[in-house]
Amino acid sequence: MKSVYGKFTWPEIKAVDKNRVVLLPVGAMEDHGPHLPLDTDNLIVTRLAEAVVDSIPCETLLLPTLPFGFNEHHKDFPGVIYIQPETLLHFVCDITRSLAHHGFRRILILNGHGSNHPVLDLAARKTVIETECICVSASYWNLMADTLKAERRSRTGGMAHAGELETAIYLYFDPQHVQLDKARTNIVHDEDNRYLCLDLAGGAKAMVMQWWSAQTADGTMGDPTVADADKGKIFFDAAVRETVGLIKEIRQIEINPRRDHH
Ligand SMILES: [Zn+2]
Repeated sequence: MKSVYGKFTWPEIKAVDKNRVVLLPVGAMEDHGPHLPLDTDNLIVTRLAEAVVDSIPCETLLLPTLPFGFNEHHKDFPGVIYIQPETLLHFVCDITRSLAHHGFRRILILNGHGSNHPVLDLAARKTVIETECICVSASYWNLMADTLKAERRSRTGGMAHAGELETAIYLYFDPQHVQLDKARTNIVHDEDNRYLCLDLAGGAKAMVMQWWSAQTADGTMGDPTVADADKGKIFFDAAVRETVGLIKEIRQIEINPRRDHH
């Protein structure tokens, strides 16, 4: 069953089941410490979306990954391509409006980069207001928080940015582009930070917004030194499993008409 959106002809996409969930992966191009490449978020979210679609091809359609995100607060590190949040919001909504115009009704925006999250939540909300679609926004690490807590080697604060999680998954897919000898532990927030602990396995209760370069010398926030490819496979498989589970739920949602109570 074909599931890569761009591989359909227009008569084929016209005829396709409009209850398939259209996946839009969104990544970023930015510093990931001295040990990981700039494309870390793109590699992870793209491989994840591909694996999800491969496992349930009849229920999904895969769009290309948006490779740039909202990350101007990282721009002190060379290489960052930063998109204004308003631009990203409008761009994503143009994509979802296009899908709605062609009759699709179920969209999943799958996020691979932390600070895209609130922008993509807004995009999903705007999509629902402006179209007849239901639209879900999800950051993959939130879906798999149970596995992260159960399987992690790093202490709290060890998985925030370029830490254990991202390093392990990159090692699993493309070890020759990981320079583990340059990886350093940099725990910025730990369990002593009751409210501001930025860790992907649970999330901060409140977000402190600071320039990235003011918080970390080499761009790392977490502990990449404990990462390995075997753990990367465990993390990745959990991300696939949980994203498939989310899609199954999205497929079950009844799309009811609005009722204006004025
Ligand atoms: Zn990242």
